[in-house]
Amino acid sequence: MDHQKTARILVAGSGPAGLIAALGFAEAGFAVTLVGPEAGGFDGRTTALMNPALKVLERLRILDEVRSKAAPLKVMRIVDATGRLIRSPVVTFRASEIGEDEFGLNLPNSALNAALARAVAAHSGIEWRKSMVETWRLEAGHAHAVLADGSEVTASLAVAADGRLSPARAAAGISTSARSLPQAALVLNFGHRSEHAFTSTEFHTETGPFTQVPLPGNRSSLVWVVEPETAKELAALDDATLSMRVEQRMQSMLGRVSVEPGRQVYPLSGVTPRRFARNRVALVGEAAHVFPPIGAQGLNLGIRDIDDLIGIALENETDPGAVKALAAYDFRRRPDILARSSAVNLLNMSLLSDMLPAQMARSAGLGVLGGFAPLRAFFMREGLRPGSGFAALAGGLRKQVRR
Ligand SMILES: Cc1cc2nc3c(=O)[nH]c(=O)nc-3n(C[C@H](O)[C@H](O)[C@H](O)COP(=O)(O)OP(=O)(O)OC[C@H]3O[C@@H](n4cnc5c(N)ncnc54)[C@H](O)[C@@H]3O)c2cc1C
Repeated sequence: MDHQKTARILVAGSGPAGLIAALGFAEAGFAVTLVGPEAGGFDGRTTALMNPALKVLERLRILDEVRSKAAPLKVMRIVDATGRLIRSPVVTFRASEIGEDEFGLNLPNSALNAALARAVAAHSGIEWRKSMVETWRLEAGHAHAVLADGSEVTASLAVAADGRLSPARAAAGISTSARSLPQAALVLNFGHRSEHAFTSTEFHTETGPFTQVPLPGNRSSLVWVVEPETAKELAALDDATLSMRVEQRMQSMLGRVSVEPGRQVYPLSGVTPRRFARNRVALVGEAAHVFPPIGAQGLNLGIRDIDDLIGIALENETDPGAVKALAAYDFRRRPDILARSSAVNLLNMSLLSDMLPAQMARSAGLGVLGGFAPLRAFFMREGLRPGSGFAALAGGLRKQVRR
């Protein structure tokens, strides 16, 4: 740990983004107060985290603890299962094509969140108040929170990791453009007869993606996006019927399927704030971006928010919540968040759309990706870390020019 800095950081929210932010700021030497309840309830979801996000977990000494419960992601495929007039060819991304062993790991949320919570509880630089922020007072010189347990916290910077409804965002006067989507995700884990070979397959259907992601052994997780009514109906099926439906949807790609207990349904929505910091509050995680679960983007993006925010706080260590620091954060995060959100939303809308031009654009885009290796490599690098695809492309061009 660095020398103790005097500025206090208040992290509101104890989901994965809040726990990672609290650990990251404490490791950077700031005094941290984390406000949020301990995780309760069942979360059978898994999160695919790409290598740059895993490096952050490694720095925070979390990765070794969770690695044995995770499966590596070596190959990612997109299959057009829309049955529409214009369909795309299968696009396959291999980590080996860009010189990596794997793109990342698929981690059970329960293991990740438990490891993060243990590390936060054990960290001497973090005071964890297991309560909720009830009211915010955001003033020129500091952020002030009154908690449900009656206690109060004053800090230089408030990190809003309080989820998609983000009360801190509202208190800071940051408006959003929000849309509810005619979709819900059925989430479950399942066993299968054949090996997955560490391949994740995203079937694009007219209601949204159906995504299988490998888990250790002959097991996978599933995020199946359908109309809300259908999600309810599927979740109510008996195990044998649901297993059959999952197997049919995957065209028996992994042989016989048996769904495990624990089905969850998540209604989908999209939220984009008009700015990412204001009035001593900086948004991270779902407080800063909500979009449908396509291409495993959400928490990967959230971890980049946190990484950038800590970098800017270190450049402004006496007052990391000052106007200048918040303006720098907004400026740095804006392109990455807006590009990811709009790419995911566009892809999602093109699946739902009956309009021929939307289908043609999606099909042409995926077709070009599938057939042209340098462009595929570019997208794979960009998918891992924004800017790295451009850097590799520029490096390649420089080599060509020198030849
Ligand atoms: C089906 C599905 C699959 C997904 N798969 C992936 C994936 O493979 N890869 C990926 O990168 N992302 C994935 N995501 C996205 C990822 O799950 C989210 O980005 C992530 O969970 C968001 O975490 P968060 O901490 O920002 O928000 P949350 O987990 O919602 O946490 C917010 C926290 O704030 C607390 N809170 C709220 N109000 C207050 C208050 N007033 N005071 C204090 N605390 C408060 C809440 O209690 C909660 O603990 C997926 C999402 C879904 C729905």
